[in-house]
Amino acid sequence: MKLFAQTQLLEDVQGKGLCVGCGACVDLCPYFTTYRGKTAMLFPCDRETGRCFAYCPKAEVDYDAVYQFRTGRPFQGTPIGPHIEVFKARAGEKQTECSFQCGGTVTALISCALDNKIINGAVLTGSDERMPKPMLVRTADQAQQCAGSKYSASPTLAVMNKEAKRGVRKMGIVATPCQATAIAQMKMNPTDKEDFEDPVSLVIGLFCTWALDARKLEALLEEKGIQGTIIKADVPPPPAEVFVVETDQGVTEIPLSEVRKIIPEGCSICPDMTSELADISVGQVEGETGYNTLIVRTEKGAELVKMARSQGYLVTENLDGDKVHNLAQASGNKKKRALAQAQEKGLLNTPDDAGRAAMRMSQDALNKIQP
Ligand SMILES: Cc1cc2nc3c(=O)[nH]c(=O)nc-3n(C[C@H](O)[C@H](O)[C@H](O)COP(=O)(O)OP(=O)(O)OC[C@H]3O[C@@H](n4cnc5c(N)ncnc54)[C@H](O)[C@@H]3O)c2cc1C
Ligand code: SF4
Ligand code: SF4
Repeated sequence: MKLFAQTQLLEDVQGKGLCVGCGACVDLCPYFTTYRGKTAMLFPCDRETGRCFAYCPKAEVDYDAVYQFRTGRPFQGTPIGPHIEVFKARAGEKQTECSFQCGGTVTALISCALDNKIINGAVLTGSDERMPKPMLVRTADQAQQCAGSKYSASPTLAVMNKEAKRGVRKMGIVATPCQATAIAQMKMNPTDKEDFEDPVSLVIGLFCTWALDARKLEALLEEKGIQGTIIKADVPPPPAEVFVVETDQGVTEIPLSEVRKIIPEGCSICPDMTSELADISVGQVEGETGYNTLIVRTEKGAELVKMARSQGYLVTENLDGDKVHNLAQASGNKKKRALAQAQEKGLLNTPDDAGRAAMRMSQDALNKIQP
């Protein structure tokens, strides 16, 4: 893993417009902050290596090292990443109904982990008016308040950093794939911090094709005259080609062609659709509302799913083979698109004399992704 610090983070990520506002560099030190969806430097720092650079999912990510650390094997480039099982799932009778995005699998798993004290708290993403609002929740009731997808990039990991500094341990986190990558890098203790203690004991990853710039989304909703409190936002499957926003005053459809213009540049080089470095990953099921696709990746994830099922938090069923196939195809296509973009921008396996890279991976993995 190539380590640098704040100066290089500003040049490589902020300077190239690749920041996705994940929050991993915020609240580690007093020098970075986040405000209304933007990450900003408060003071310069002259260290040669820093956790800000080391955790950032858009700066010198060594895929072989981080996959080896988290999964026991270097990065293979397979479409949905290392996993044990794939299911169709939804919340069970033990989970109180609330405004879930799909089947409520994420909220049900977090509730089960909190109720059984597998985690001491969970870093989730609620909302404050139209901005995503990350927070540490301690109870299943509080977790329900965060249900539903906020389609803007959220600085969720700033809260993880802040709570870790306060001494909170055994945190659960619901993370997008870029955030799951940053957490995996944090777990490696890349700067060899002597007093390092991993504060995170469970990562539930979301599927993600793209997120939206939070400020630009706010402006777009304003421009479209969308009034009221947002109840739900959704991207129905093709051929719909719309972003649907439901507020307490009605439902509006915005063409995806307009919405795609406010996707942060950093998402264009993101190779992970299914949160491959999480313990459990959760997404939609193509064409079936009220259900989730659930990918179990680690033994810890498998134990939680087993417990959630046996205690009535979760119901799982087989996922049809054609749906698994389509998921793998969509996920593999995201990898291909991201690597093509990164190559075009000179951000993949950049030679030392040509600067730093956003990502590094083996030629074997590259050949699998782009045969
Ligand atoms: C930006 C984004 C893009 C997505 N893209 C896809 C996609 O392309 N394909 C797909 O199948 N699924 C996608 N999803 C996942 C999907 O929308 C659902 O989140 C997932 O299926 C879980 O559903 P659920 O009913 O179990 O969630 P719920 O039980 O309703 O829980 C949702 C959880 O998501 C967390 N959350 C909400 N917004 C954010 C955010 N911005 N960042 C981090 N955490 C958040 C909340 O903390 C909450 O715990 C995306 C989600 C997000 C946030
Ligand atoms: S992508 Fe995340 S870690 Fe990197 S600069 Fe932006 S907020 Fe910080
Ligand atoms: S597409 Fe990738 S970089 Fe963008 S928000 Fe989703 S996981 Fe993060």
